Amino acid sequence: MDPLSLLVGGLLVAVGFVAGRLGRRRQGPAIPQAVCACGHPLSQHDPESTTCYAEVARDTYTKRGRWAGHTWVACSCRQYIGPRPIDEVFAPRLLPPTS
Ligand SMILES: [Zn+2]
Ligand SMILES: [Zn+2]
Repeated sequence: MDPLSLLVGGLLVAVGFVAGRLGRRRQGPAIPQAVCACGHPLSQHDPESTTCYAEVARDTYTKRGRWAGHTWVACSCRQYIGPRPIDEVFAPRLLPPTS
């Protein structure tokens, strides 16, 4: 094998490697999701009380002001105020007047 084809072969391998890395890192288009103002999706809200039962990590500090890790506390959201795709699907259609 002559040096030129060796070089081309190496280049192709390098290009394939980089392309593979880029392809893996690239993410698809963001899917619009029904998200509440608290940042949690509708699926993490109670369907009846609409309170959020997701847990959020809260920083805790010692008395001296040192970071002491996370504690998981319930989300303070009390009502889901984001869009409701389910309601749109199941909302009763207004019937046209029959008269
Ligand atoms: Zn929440
Ligand atoms: Zn919420």
